[in-house]
Amino acid sequence: AKSIVQPDVKPKKKLKLATCSLAGCFGCHMSFLDMDERLIELLERVELSRSPLNDIKTCAPDCDLGLIEGAVCNTENIAVLRHFRESCKIIIAVGSCAINGGVPSLRNNIDVKDCLDEAYLNGIGLVNPKVPIDKELPYLLEKVYPIHEVIKVDYFLPGCPPPADAFWKILNDLLDGKEPELPYDLLHFD
Ligand code: SF4
Repeated sequence: AKSIVQPDVKPKKKLKLATCSLAGCFGCHMSFLDMDERLIELLERVELSRSPLNDIKTCAPDCDLGLIEGAVCNTENIAVLRHFRESCKIIIAVGSCAINGGVPSLRNNIDVKDCLDEAYLNGIGLVNPKVPIDKELPYLLEKVYPIHEVIKVDYFLPGCPPPADAFWKILNDLLDGKEPELPYDLLHFD
Protein backbone atom coordinates (compact mmCIF):
# COMPACT_ATOMS: atom_id res chain seq x y z
CA ALA A 1 0.00 0.00 0.00
CA LYS A 2 1.08 3.47 -0.76
CA SER A 3 2.04 5.50 2.21
CA ILE A 4 0.89 9.04 2.12
CA VAL A 5 3.21 11.48 3.75
CA GLN A 6 1.14 14.05 5.54
CA PRO A 7 2.57 17.52 5.43
CA ASP A 8 3.01 19.08 8.83
CA VAL A 9 -0.01 21.35 8.75
CA LYS A 10 -0.39 21.84 12.47
CA PRO A 11 -1.07 25.57 12.77
CA LYS A 12 1.22 27.54 15.03
CA LYS A 13 -0.33 28.42 18.36
CA LYS A 14 -1.43 32.02 18.35
CA LEU A 15 -0.14 34.42 20.93
CA LYS A 16 -3.00 35.49 23.19
CA LEU A 17 -2.91 39.24 23.71
CA ALA A 18 -4.95 41.37 26.11
CA THR A 19 -4.78 45.17 26.31
CA CYS A 20 -6.29 47.81 28.54
CA SER A 21 -6.26 51.50 29.31
CA LEU A 22 -6.21 52.64 32.94
CA ALA A 23 -5.58 56.36 33.54
CA GLY A 24 -4.55 56.71 29.91
CA CYS A 25 -5.76 58.79 26.97
CA PHE A 26 -6.07 55.88 24.50
CA GLY A 27 -3.21 57.44 22.58
CA CYS A 28 -1.08 54.35 23.13
CA HIS A 29 -3.86 52.21 21.66
CA MET A 30 -4.08 54.60 18.71
CA SER A 31 -0.36 54.17 18.17
CA PHE A 32 -0.85 50.40 18.29
CA LEU A 33 -3.45 50.82 15.52
CA ASP A 34 -0.92 52.94 13.61
CA MET A 35 0.72 49.64 12.67
CA ASP A 36 -1.86 50.00 9.87
CA GLU A 37 -1.93 47.12 7.37
CA ARG A 38 0.62 45.25 9.47
CA LEU A 39 -2.29 44.61 11.88
CA ILE A 40 -3.66 42.10 9.37
CA GLU A 41 -0.35 40.25 9.37
CA LEU A 42 -0.28 40.45 13.15
CA LEU A 43 -3.76 38.96 13.51
CA GLU A 44 -2.55 35.84 11.73
CA ARG A 45 -0.23 35.20 14.68
CA VAL A 46 -2.05 36.94 17.51
CA GLU A 47 -5.46 36.36 19.04
CA LEU A 48 -7.01 39.26 20.93
CA SER A 49 -8.42 38.59 24.37
CA ARG A 50 -9.88 41.38 26.52
CA SER A 51 -9.18 44.72 24.88
CA PRO A 52 -10.93 48.03 24.19
CA LEU A 53 -10.66 46.98 20.54
CA ASN A 54 -13.28 44.25 21.02
CA ASP A 55 -16.16 43.39 23.32
CA ILE A 56 -14.44 40.84 25.58
CA LYS A 57 -14.87 41.76 29.23
CA THR A 58 -12.31 39.54 30.96
CA CYS A 59 -8.89 38.20 30.02
CA ALA A 60 -8.58 34.56 29.06
CA PRO A 61 -6.84 32.88 32.02
CA ASP A 62 -3.98 31.75 29.76
CA CYS A 63 -3.11 35.02 28.06
CA ASP A 64 0.48 35.26 26.92
CA LEU A 65 0.77 39.00 26.90
CA GLY A 66 -0.93 41.98 28.54
CA LEU A 67 -0.28 45.49 27.24
CA ILE A 68 -1.20 48.11 29.84
CA GLU A 69 -1.65 51.76 28.91
CA GLY A 70 -2.22 54.43 31.52
CA ALA A 71 -1.31 55.10 35.12
CA VAL A 72 -3.17 53.96 38.23
CA CYS A 73 -5.50 56.69 39.50
CA ASN A 74 -8.52 54.96 41.02
CA THR A 75 -9.65 51.80 42.80
CA GLU A 76 -10.99 50.19 39.62
CA ASN A 77 -7.59 50.58 37.94
CA ILE A 78 -6.06 48.49 40.74
CA ALA A 79 -8.64 45.71 40.28
CA VAL A 80 -8.11 45.65 36.49
CA LEU A 81 -4.35 45.59 36.90
CA ARG A 82 -4.48 42.63 39.31
CA HIS A 83 -6.79 40.78 36.92
CA PHE A 84 -4.28 41.31 34.10
CA ARG A 85 -1.37 40.16 36.25
CA GLU A 86 -3.25 36.98 37.22
CA SER A 87 -4.20 36.23 33.60
CA CYS A 88 -1.12 37.18 31.57
CA LYS A 89 2.30 35.55 31.54
CA ILE A 90 4.04 38.72 30.40
CA ILE A 91 2.97 42.26 31.30
CA ILE A 92 4.28 45.25 29.36
CA ALA A 93 3.87 48.78 30.73
CA VAL A 94 3.10 50.78 27.59
CA GLY A 95 3.75 54.51 27.47
CA SER A 96 4.81 57.18 29.93
CA CYS A 97 1.64 57.01 32.03
CA ALA A 98 2.06 53.32 32.81
CA ILE A 99 5.83 53.66 33.22
CA ASN A 100 6.16 56.68 35.51
CA GLY A 101 2.67 58.14 35.98
CA GLY A 102 3.03 60.45 32.99
CA VAL A 103 0.87 63.52 32.53
CA PRO A 104 -1.91 62.34 34.92
CA SER A 105 0.61 62.29 37.78
CA LEU A 106 0.89 66.08 37.51
CA ARG A 107 -1.97 66.09 40.02
CA ASN A 108 0.28 64.46 42.62
CA ASN A 109 1.23 67.74 44.26
CA ILE A 110 -2.38 68.86 44.55
CA ASP A 111 -4.69 67.53 47.25
CA VAL A 112 -7.22 65.16 45.67
CA LYS A 113 -10.07 67.00 47.46
CA ASP A 114 -8.93 70.26 45.88
CA CYS A 115 -8.96 68.60 42.45
CA LEU A 116 -12.52 67.34 42.95
CA ASP A 117 -13.70 70.66 44.37
CA GLU A 118 -12.19 72.55 41.48
CA ALA A 119 -13.86 70.30 38.90
CA TYR A 120 -17.25 69.72 40.50
CA LEU A 121 -17.91 72.64 42.89
CA ASN A 122 -15.96 75.65 41.65
CA GLY A 123 -16.01 75.03 37.90
CA ILE A 124 -17.83 77.59 35.80
CA GLY A 125 -21.30 76.95 34.43
CA LEU A 126 -22.19 74.23 36.95
CA VAL A 127 -25.84 73.77 37.93
CA ASN A 128 -26.43 72.34 41.43
CA PRO A 129 -22.73 71.54 41.90
CA LYS A 130 -21.75 68.52 43.97
CA VAL A 131 -18.92 66.00 44.04
CA PRO A 132 -20.23 62.66 42.70
CA ILE A 133 -20.25 59.96 45.39
CA ASP A 134 -22.40 57.14 43.94
CA LYS A 135 -21.11 53.70 45.01
CA GLU A 136 -20.92 52.69 41.33
CA LEU A 137 -18.04 55.12 40.93
CA PRO A 138 -14.45 54.13 41.69
CA TYR A 139 -12.62 56.26 44.25
CA LEU A 140 -9.74 58.41 43.17
CA LEU A 141 -6.47 57.46 44.88
CA GLU A 142 -4.59 60.17 46.79
CA LYS A 143 -1.81 59.93 44.19
CA VAL A 144 -1.40 58.65 40.65
CA TYR A 145 0.98 55.68 40.44
CA PRO A 146 2.98 53.94 37.73
CA ILE A 147 1.76 50.37 37.31
CA HIS A 148 4.95 48.79 38.68
CA GLU A 149 3.98 50.14 42.11
CA VAL A 150 0.93 47.84 42.05
CA ILE A 151 2.01 44.74 40.11
CA LYS A 152 5.21 43.20 38.80
CA VAL A 153 6.01 44.41 35.29
CA ASP A 154 8.09 42.39 32.83
CA TYR A 155 8.87 45.00 30.16
CA PHE A 156 8.52 48.73 29.58
CA LEU A 157 7.69 50.21 26.18
CA PRO A 158 8.52 53.92 26.44
CA GLY A 159 7.05 56.91 24.62
CA CYS A 160 4.00 59.14 24.83
CA PRO A 161 2.95 57.25 22.88
CA PRO A 162 5.48 54.61 21.81
CA PRO A 163 5.75 54.60 18.00
CA ALA A 164 3.85 51.97 16.00
CA ASP A 165 7.19 50.54 14.85
CA ALA A 166 8.11 49.93 18.49
CA PHE A 167 4.88 47.94 19.03
CA TRP A 168 5.65 46.01 15.86
CA LYS A 169 9.22 45.26 16.93
CA ILE A 170 8.42 44.18 20.49
CA LEU A 171 5.51 41.97 19.39
CA ASN A 172 7.54 40.30 16.67
CA ASP A 173 10.44 39.70 19.02
CA LEU A 174 8.09 37.95 21.43
CA LEU A 175 6.43 35.97 18.62
CA ASP A 176 9.85 34.83 17.46
CA GLY A 177 10.72 33.75 20.99
CA LYS A 178 13.38 36.44 21.28
CA GLU A 179 14.12 38.77 24.14
CA PRO A 180 12.39 42.06 23.16
CA GLU A 181 14.83 44.77 22.26
CA LEU A 182 14.29 48.24 20.81
CA PRO A 183 16.79 49.96 18.53
CA TYR A 184 17.86 53.44 19.60
CA ASP A 185 15.64 55.28 17.10
CA LEU A 186 12.48 53.63 18.49
CA LEU A 187 13.37 54.50 22.03
CA HIS A 188 12.00 57.83 23.24
CA PHE A 189 10.09 59.20 26.18
CA ASP A 190 8.00 61.95 24.55
S1 SF4 B 1 1.62 57.60 27.51
FE1 SF4 B 1 0.87 59.39 26.38
S2 SF4 B 1 -0.26 58.52 24.66
FE2 SF4 B 1 -0.04 56.87 26.19
S3 SF4 B 1 -1.87 57.00 27.48
FE3 SF4 B 1 -0.32 58.28 28.46
S4 SF4 B 1 -0.71 60.35 27.68
FE4 SF4 B 1 -1.74 58.92 26.31
